[in-house]
Formats: sequence, C-alpha cells, structure tokens
Amino acid sequence: MRRHRRAKIVATVGPASNTPEMLKRLFLAGVDTFRLNFSHGTHEDHAKVHAAIRALEAEMGRPIGILQDLQGPKIRVGTIRDGKITVAAGESIRFVLSGADGDKTAIPLPHPEIFAAVMPGHNLLIDDGRVRVAVTGLGDDYIDAKVVIGGTISNRKGVNLPDTVLELSPLTAKDRVDLAFGLELGVDWVAMSFVQKPADLLEARGLIGDRAGLMSKIEKPAALDRIDDIIRLSDSVMVARGDLGVEIPHEEVPGRQKELVRACRLAVKPVIVATQMLDSMVNAPTPTRAEASDVATAIYDGADAVMLSAESASGAFPVEAVEMMDRIIRSTEQHKLYRSIIDASDPGEEQTAPHAVAAAAADLAEVIHASTIVAYTSSGTTAARIARRRPAVPILAITPHAAVSRRLSLLWGAHSVLSADIHTYEEMVERALGFAKEEGFAKPNDQMVVVAGIPFAKAGTTNNLRVVQVEG
Ligand code: PGA
Ligand code: MN
Repeated sequence: MRRHRRAKIVATVGPASNTPEMLKRLFLAGVDTFRLNFSHGTHEDHAKVHAAIRALEAEMGRPIGILQDLQGPKIRVGTIRDGKITVAAGESIRFVLSGADGDKTAIPLPHPEIFAAVMPGHNLLIDDGRVRVAVTGLGDDYIDAKVVIGGTISNRKGVNLPDTVLELSPLTAKDRVDLAFGLELGVDWVAMSFVQKPADLLEARGLIGDRAGLMSKIEKPAALDRIDDIIRLSDSVMVARGDLGVEIPHEEVPGRQKELVRACRLAVKPVIVATQMLDSMVNAPTPTRAEASDVATAIYDGADAVMLSAESASGAFPVEAVEMMDRIIRSTEQHKLYRSIIDASDPGEEQTAPHAVAAAAADLAEVIHASTIVAYTSSGTTAARIARRRPAVPILAITPHAAVSRRLSLLWGAHSVLSADIHTYEEMVERALGFAKEEGFAKPNDQMVVVAGIPFAKAGTTNNLRVVQVEG
C-alpha cells in the first residue's frame, strides 16, 4: 500500500474517531500518524486506541506512528461561583491565588508561579485570547487587572501569559504519570507542550531515553528566542499555532511558521504544522477557501506533516477532513510551481560527508529519472538527510527497527518498510530490488539509487551510493 503524496497527515484521536472502525477509515483516508491528546481522556481510553492502532498496523502491513501529546503546564482559571462571569472593557477585576468564591474581585487563579513572575503591564489572555486583561498591581496572593477586551470568563478556561517567563516545570506531575504510561504502551513520539527553553527538554530526554522520539511544541514566545538550541535537542518539532497564535500577534504566526519549517529542514528534524487547518470542518463537510489555502501553504513551506485537531477528534466530519487534507496535499505537490517554491526555500546542508552523500543521492536520482531512492537507514537519519533535499523522487526507507519504521511515518517523502539488517553488498542490491518491486516503487527497466552506510548495520554513516538497474 503506497500513498501518492510526500507530506504526511497527523490526526488527533478523540470521541469522534476512537473506535477500531473509525481508526481504520481514517488510516485508509490518509492518516500516517495518530495523535493521542493527553489533555483529554483516561489512560484506559488511550490504551484502547493504542491497541486498536497496533492491530490496524498488523492488518494493513504498514507502519503507523503514534504520537503522545502531553498536556504540559497549561494554566487555567479555577472554579467560578456561577460557572462564568462577564467582564467589560475598562473594568477592574482581581485574581486570587486561592478561594473558590469567584466573583469579579476574586477570580481563582490557582498557580503560585504566576504570582511570583507577573509584573504590572503584563497581559493575561483568557480562553484562547477572547478576553484580554492587563495587570495593574499585585500582592502575594492577588493580581489586580484592567480589562482590555471584555467577554466571558468561565470555569477552567485556559490562560496565556505571553509577556511573562514563568518558572514552570515543563513536565507536571500529571505529565510524568502520563509519560510513564505512554512509554509503557510503546508510543513512537512524545510531544512536550509549552517548551520555553532548551533545558526544558533535558529531563524528558532522560526519562524517555531512546524509547520514543522527543517532539517540542513551539507555542511560547520564549521558545522562539532559543529556537536553534531547542531544535537541536529535539527529534521533531510542532508549530503549535493554537497557543502560539494567542501568545504572539496573529500577523506574526505565518512568518514564524516559515522560519520554523526552514530551521527544521536545515537541522534534519521533521516538523508538523498544526491547529485549525480545516477548522470549519468540525461542523461542515467542506472547508473554507482560506483553510484549503492554509494547508497548501504549509506544503509549499516544506512541512513534513500537517495536523488535524478537533476536526478528527471531536468534529462531525473526521473522514472527510482527512480526505480533504489528502487531496489538498496531492494537488499542491503536483502543481507546476511546487518544485520551484520548495527548491527556493532549500536552506542548504551541513558540509559533511553524510549530508553531502544524501544530497548527491537526491540529485543523482533526479538526473537519471530514477523511480526511487532506496535508503538503508538504521536510525532513520539517512532517510531524513535525503528527505531534507525534498527530492522529486520518492524515498523507500528500509530499516530493521519497527520503532524507526513507525517514526518515519512523520518524515516527508518516506515510505518505510521493516527488514532485518543486511550484511553484504549483494544483499543490499537484491533486497532493494525486491522491496521496490513489491511496494510499487519500481517496474522493469527502471533505475534506482541505493544509499547505505558501510559498514552495514552501524547507525550514523551515510557514505555509499549505488545506481541499480531493474531488469527488463
Ligand atoms: P494543543 O497544542 O492542541 O495541545 O493546545 C497545539 C497548539 O497549541 O496548536
Ligand atoms: Mn497548545
């Protein structure tokens, strides 16, 4: 089974999609990696979905990625007396550290770290920025603020503090429990929410080791200031536009998206563009023109993957949303301007032998009109280095590790297959030919480019290129 596009689709699983039947329909419609959102659902729910995806994988004979998304230090208001209160622009209100009373002079904000770090002039954005207040003064256990944009504040709504660098533990107590659970299940990726600085990743990395890939969700302005180091310490990145678009002005999000995609491509780390991509499909069977254009833009930017959130998790049209995304990606990738746009945003590559060999493989394959580039990849890095070049020729990645084959379902252009280590040059050629034919990547008289690291079975080397002719 082969997909006819390069960019990948990530879909969030939720009440609209968490049955084995729906997961299969979504996979067949085009989902490459499923996201389990640990902001919602019980461990039991997630375990069932995980098992259903692994069963589906066995049934389909194709690796499927599973991404565990940790909630992270999401800040919320507490419980308000009447469930909600309405505030008007110009009004003065007060937040308190504790107390469940909750009127306008005592809105509970049970997060001591805010009281320690916030300063007069800082903004608090409530409910995805629908309500904005500016801090006017504060004490140990209260914050006074003036309402800038009025609206309704209801129980447990999220709060963003774009101006404040908070002393947040990047892994909350809940995250630690969830992470241990996810690793036990055997997820392929763990996404950390609200990463602020490179050090935030160290503890998670220590806990995860090499059991899963570590993904940084970029949704705080502070993370943008240290982005190169954050990318270096991550295995992949999510442009988490939901929270990012609350914390920085709307008009800056598209440019940041382009910067992040380019930086990840240079660093050879897969990057997902996420949130609200086909948002109106939560309630309607077709997207807006602007949403279709947004998906296409992420593809022209060179993103490895695009993501569905509520569209697939809780919307009324999850299958239609995946089908629509698949169609937009394929159409964009076939457009006559796609190649020139993608090539123009090539950030270049590191001047080292492995990178140069991967780039040469991509160039060679294009020059000889090869049908595929076969990459022997133990850790996935060789495939990623080739994908970095965004070649016009598809990449068939052969790996001996199931975990790697699943992680490759996030990588641009990679179709991964699982196969035991090779030991000789003859074996390398024979197996490449066999898989290319079997998986629909080569027909008689085609040429292929085979890339490997020699000695075989040793990760990190990419030093060998070979042109292979398929017999007539
Ligand atoms: P979330 O992350 O859906 O977990 O908030 C994505 C985002 O903020 O865009
Ligand atoms: Mn978020």
